[in-house]
Amino acid sequence: MTITNIDAANEGISADDFTRLEPVPEAGMQRAMDIMRSGKLFRYGGKRPEDCEVALLERDFADYLGVRHALGVSSCTQAIELALLACGVEAGTRVLVPGFTFTAVPSAIVVLGAEPVFVECTDDYRIDLEDLERKIGDDTPVLLLSHMRGHICEMDTIMRLCQARGVKVVEDAAHALGARWHDQAVGTFGRVGCFSFQSNKIINAGEGGMLTTDDEQIIVKAIYLSGAYETNYRKHFNADSALFERYAGQLPAHNVRMNNLTAAVARPQLALLDERGHRYRQMYAYLEQHLSALGLELPRAYAAETRIPDSLQFRVPQLSTEQMQAFIAQARDAGLPLSGFADPNNARAFYNWRYLGKAIPELPQTRRSLQNVCDMRLSSTLQQRHLDYIVSTVRDALAALAPPSVKVAGQ
Ligand SMILES: *Cc1c(COP(=O)(O)O)cnc(C)c1O
Repeated sequence: MTITNIDAANEGISADDFTRLEPVPEAGMQRAMDIMRSGKLFRYGGKRPEDCEVALLERDFADYLGVRHALGVSSCTQAIELALLACGVEAGTRVLVPGFTFTAVPSAIVVLGAEPVFVECTDDYRIDLEDLERKIGDDTPVLLLSHMRGHICEMDTIMRLCQARGVKVVEDAAHALGARWHDQAVGTFGRVGCFSFQSNKIINAGEGGMLTTDDEQIIVKAIYLSGAYETNYRKHFNADSALFERYAGQLPAHNVRMNNLTAAVARPQLALLDERGHRYRQMYAYLEQHLSALGLELPRAYAAETRIPDSLQFRVPQLSTEQMQAFIAQARDAGLPLSGFADPNNARAFYNWRYLGKAIPELPQTRRSLQNVCDMRLSSTLQQRHLDYIVSTVRDALAALAPPSVKVAGQ
């Protein structure tokens, strides 16, 4: 895409710069080539976990997070589904879930025949603690939590509430790998953590997911559920549990295993996470300062939270729906891959989850919180001139809104 309104000061900037994905590290390409030459793409094709790229990734991933067990699967959504099953969710189980999340998250609940119990979200995209406290109870045994766009939920209160009620927490940390709350990795607070390697996340393997836990029963069940038929569990590093005997043949196989190529591509990216995180925090601090100065509302960060801000969200207050559409269109024409959370068909807006049928919730607060919010992925390859371009483009798009402009619009 070419940028139509580019001026001399922005020479050398292309719209492609803003959508650029990170290349696979050379070591990952080499490993993938070796695996393809050998034909050993299937994770259970070898004899020992040491020979299996997926098992090696699982070990490295668990070490990185500081947890005992990790299981590679085909997506974060599949990790969530296995996590719910391993936590005992079955048809009719009521599962608490935030009203602002990606469509695949409540999907994982409803495909099990379980019942999502939607909780309101706040203006800064986190689960609303008061509404959670209202809805949590003896009849809601599981909370499926999402750290949307890497904004970390208030884990101290959530864990206190859930522990007091005996509610199991499954963390959808698809977009929060590498983030910390106090000094603990996000995704390790709940009974199970779920992560994504889909291309828009901080580790890009195209697709792929990881399930993590310290709980022996959960990992044994999840390994069987993922498709470790017969005695293939022996090809995992955590094969020593006596529980494997106990659950043999007891669980249906979903066949959502990760393959060795995915693991080869993902594994060397783990070592880059901390550096990428550092770079993203620098970029984001600059954007936050300059976009806030334009009157835009950026979400608050908790003191306990260290996130990897690989995307940008901001609210443009007081614009009508039409003005918002014009604003987004102008920014897009200038090459910024902006979208609105309230855009028609946006997969994160609960009122578009029509597969829920009569179960589409009424969440007035969450509905309001999605209004006028822009969302944009940030490429880690952006340079200072790109950050300046984002700020000037947003400023120009705001200025171009027809008078009577920002002040009077929102009635
Ligand atoms: C990307 C994402 C998912 C889905 O991950 P997949 O690996 O594509 O299934 C779920 N939840 C959140 C918060 C996400 O960002």
